[in-house]
This record gives sequence, C-alpha cells and structure tokens, in this order.
Amino acid sequence: MRSRESPPGGRKGVWMFTAFLIKYAEIGVKGRNRYIFEDALVQQIKYAVRRCEGEFKVTRTQGRIYVEAVSGFDFDEIVDNLKTVFGISGICPVVYVRDEGFEKLGEEIIRYVGEVYPETDKSFKVNARRARKNYPLTSMEINSGIGSILLDAYPAMKVDVHKPDILLNIEIREKIYIYSETIPGPGGMPVGTGGKAMLLLSGGIDSPVAGYMIAKRGVKIDAVYFHAPPYTSERAKQKVVDLARIISRYTGPVYLHVINFTDIQLYIYDKCPHEELTIIMRRYMMRIAERIAKETECLGLITGESIGQVASQTMHSLAATNEVCTMPVYRPLIGFDKMEIVDISEKINTYETSIQPFEDCCTIFVAKHPVTKPNLNIIRRHEENLQEKIEEMVDTAVRTAELIIVHQ
Ligand code: ATP
Ligand code: MG
Repeated sequence: MRSRESPPGGRKGVWMFTAFLIKYAEIGVKGRNRYIFEDALVQQIKYAVRRCEGEFKVTRTQGRIYVEAVSGFDFDEIVDNLKTVFGISGICPVVYVRDEGFEKLGEEIIRYVGEVYPETDKSFKVNARRARKNYPLTSMEINSGIGSILLDAYPAMKVDVHKPDILLNIEIREKIYIYSETIPGPGGMPVGTGGKAMLLLSGGIDSPVAGYMIAKRGVKIDAVYFHAPPYTSERAKQKVVDLARIISRYTGPVYLHVINFTDIQLYIYDKCPHEELTIIMRRYMMRIAERIAKETECLGLITGESIGQVASQTMHSLAATNEVCTMPVYRPLIGFDKMEIVDISEKINTYETSIQPFEDCCTIFVAKHPVTKPNLNIIRRHEENLQEKIEEMVDTAVRTAELIIVHQ
C-alpha cells in the first residue's frame, strides 16, 4: 500500500503517502450548484486516475474529495494526471495513521516531519480538526500537545502561528489524516459543469489552445476539422487527431467530426474572386460548424482567432466571418500575441505536434493578396455565384462527416 521509493520528482518522504486530499475553489459553488460541481469533479478525477498504474478509490465525504490508493502507485504519475483536472486548486499528499492513542500519533508525526522535512529548522503550526467528535482531546489540546512533542523531538524548530513554513494539518476521522504540502492544481471549473461547445480544430498552434482555455471554464468540447483531400494529406488529418488526443487529457473524450471540404473549396475557387476566397471559405466553415453544433447540442463555437494575426483575422474579416453565425462564437485568444499562445501550447504539450509541417486546407487555396477589409455587401453578392449548388454541397458535407471519438 505504499508508493514506490525515490521517485524522479525528488519530493521527500513520498513513500509514506497513500492518499491525496483534493482542494477546490468553493467560490460560487454554493447550494445545489455545489453538488453538480463536486459530481463533475469526481467524475473527471476518476477519468484521470484510470490512466495511472495502480488502483484508486475516489471518495467524497463532508465536503472533501479524497483519492486513496488501494494498491502500489507512482507518486509522480498520479500527481501529473491530477494536475490535468480542471476544478482542482490544490493536491495535498496525505498520510493515514490508525488511531492507536495520542502517544502513537505523536510518534507518527515525528516520523512524518523527519521524512518530509529533513532540514528540521523550520517554523510550524499544528492545525487539528475533529470530524469525529468522540476523540478524547479537543482540537486545541491536540494542537498544543503535538506542538510540544515536535519541539522536544526537533529543538531547532519553532512555532509560528501567523506565517509558518509548515502548516501541519491533522484530521481526526475513522483514521487520522496528516498532510502539510499543497501541490498547485490547474484551477478552473470541472469539465461538464458548463455545457458543451464546438471547437473548430485545425492542425495549427492556436485552436488547441483555444479549446483548452474554454474547457478550463468547465465546458465540454466537441471538435470539427475541415479536411480537403487530396490537397491535405492523411498525415495532416492524423495531426489533428493527435492534437485532439493531447487536449483530451484535460477535456475528456473529444467527438471529432471530420468534414470533407474539398468540393466546397473547389467550387468557391471556381466561382468567387480569389482575394475573397479565404473569407468566403471561412464563412462556410462557420456555417457548417454551426449546423453540426446544433445537431449535437453545443451552445457555442470556439475558434483560435486573434485580432490581426492574419488577413482573415482583422476586425473587418472577423465581422464578416461572424455574420453567418447565430450561435455565440468564443475566441479566447482574441487579445493574445502569438508568443503568449505559444507559451500555453508548450505548457499543455500541443506545440511540438502543432508545428509538424503538414499543409492545412487554408494554406493551399490562399490568394497572394487576400482582402483585409472585406465589404460585407460585396462578399454576400459574390456568394450568390454559389447559389446553384452550395446548399446541396453543404448538406452532403454534413451528412458524410466522419466521427472519430478521441480519448486517452
Ligand atoms: P491555427 O493555428 O489554430 O490553425 P491560424 O492562425 O492558422 O490558427 P486560421 O487558419 O486563420 O488561423 O484559422 C483561424 C481559426 O479557424 C483556427 O484557429 C481554427 O479555429 C479555425 N480553422 C482554420 N482552419 C481550420 C480547419 N481546417 N478545420 C477546422 N477549423 C479550422
Ligand atoms: Mg490554421
């Protein structure tokens, strides 16, 4: 029932820990919402720990969530996976002690402090909490009793009740729980508490980051990818599947709809002025994405657009693209510089995949001098050139979409 000794992370005393107390921000999750929030969090934690070696029990008692190991496990692996669960603000490794009297508890705590803090010149505060009220000592008595035991055992330590280096928590339950370290979690809200949205996922750097950011606020993510074979290769599509898989670590399984966009692109290429190709193509992407979003009960679209990044993302172009949608379009990167987006993509591990050199369907059909200030009336007029076949082509594209369920 112990984690492996000497894990690569080098955290001291990890072999002692057999459970984790999960901390989450409680602001705004009062009353009924709190249960929805906690249920979703437990669900996502279960999904994350299932990927780890070993067996775990996820339990919820008295407003606390614990992940308990019921077999051997790898400390770093479980922590890395818990760090992908939105809604977790902190992960506290816990040591359990059987209640065998106060003297025994004192011995266990001396051992705990010696293992986890080998340099014992730190200041500390004991913070006892009795969830089981029949314990023979009050919280105050435990605090002062354990305090003096520690001062006797480690004379270089001192008590600091205001800003201690070590806040030693002791929770009296059936067993006694000891913890003092908090590893930061990703924050945010558990996926599933905020409805569902459709991410327009290309093979680039931006859109996976955009999906990650909206998922962080608790939104479940489906995705749509516009594929244009043979202009875009199977390898380009595989790259998008790979990106969906990386973000599914955070978002849970992603339903990826792959749309064959070739005929529509060729038709636009044939019928519309080339400098307007990108804008008109993007308007069709949004229309199709919105249709699939409605059919799958999504409440909005998500793109990786950022003002001014390319010609199709000027304020004028964004207005033209946006005009065809009735659903809200969420653009979480709208005010970000490329470098800021790259930083996040490195942090979430999508960057290396995003920069693989496979063509995307937009780059093949781009004009040398695309319009940067499209005039909506002119764009609408040119879209009339498509009247004869476009409705049917959009229907076909939606009907023949390939669904790939991507998960870890
Ligand atoms: P990214 O790095 O995400 O590819 P980008 O900077 O290349 O973005 P554009 O190609 O103009 O920008 O695309 C803007 C947004 O439109 C993307 O972030 C993405 O949400 C969506 N998008 C572009 N191409 C596709 C595609 N082939 N399939 C699905 N969505 C796409
Ligand atoms: Mg792109």
